[in-house]
Amino acid sequence: MSTSRRDFIKILATLPLASSSFASDGHSEKNGDLASNGTSYSVLMDSTLCVGCRKCEWACNDKNHLPNKDISTFEDTSVFAFRRRPEVDKFTVVNKIQSLKEQQTIKIQCMHCLHPACASACIVGALKKQECGAVTYDADKCIGCRYCMVACPFQIPAYEYKNVLTPKVQKCSFCVDKLEKGEKPACVEMCPNEAMTFGTRAELIEVANSRMHQHPEKYFHHIYGEYEAGGTSWLYLSQIDLRGSEFPQLSSDPIPKLTETIQHGIFKNFVPPLALFTLLGVAMHSLKDKDRD
Ligand code: SF4
Ligand code: SF4
Ligand code: SF4
Repeated sequence: MSTSRRDFIKILATLPLASSSFASDGHSEKNGDLASNGTSYSVLMDSTLCVGCRKCEWACNDKNHLPNKDISTFEDTSVFAFRRRPEVDKFTVVNKIQSLKEQQTIKIQCMHCLHPACASACIVGALKKQECGAVTYDADKCIGCRYCMVACPFQIPAYEYKNVLTPKVQKCSFCVDKLEKGEKPACVEMCPNEAMTFGTRAELIEVANSRMHQHPEKYFHHIYGEYEAGGTSWLYLSQIDLRGSEFPQLSSDPIPKLTETIQHGIFKNFVPPLALFTLLGVAMHSLKDKDRD
């Protein structure tokens, strides 16, 4: 990265509220409206059914042409000694639930939030909530500011720091190409124990409530993602409270709305967001081109 670009990012980093407000001129509100009616696709991950085989990790690598190994190597459970995070070459990981003594596992990937903070923070609209439910990333629009990484409450977007020429943000795409055809994501298809159920969000919330009602001894009575951060497309059931353990404790307020409320106040008597957005967008695009030269 050139010095000028690094300096520019540093300056931008001092304006966190300002930078994310630029995105609020349209696309984040649209993002928030999509998928909130329950008809977009979702996945219910029931961690009580997950056997920790990690075949979903293999399937994701295979589907996304990520570095992969023979499927038998995924039987290695030594990885459960650490809490892993998705990375540039791993869009999903299966972790042991650390607060439990027995081995119980849970799959982690982008939550495909209904009101994605990553999309709200992105000043060029490179991240977008699609009607099918996926939050997608457009590398051609991305200027590498990495505000999405700062904004995501689940620490999901990963950045290709080692890719000097054309670094991209990487994350689970919800297998959007399959989703748009009404097909299950590759990881869901692969799961041998049906720990993940695919359907519309409204249907899956019913399924989750029914499971908790029928087996109260088996589940902690909470669907993680039903309301957190305004709701997510990936929903979780577990035998423990995932809030503050495997996932952050979040209010039901969509994160973009919270930040935008503050930002709009700040900008009311200040520089118009659209003018700053245009100026910074042009400047960062030119810096990106310079980096690639
Ligand atoms: S494939 Fe299914 S059972 Fe196996 S680790 Fe993944 S979610 Fe768990
Ligand atoms: S989990 Fe993070 S990266 Fe995924 S949609 Fe939500 S804010 Fe964006
Ligand atoms: S939905 Fe697709 S991209 Fe996301 S974790 Fe599953 S296989 Fe990987």
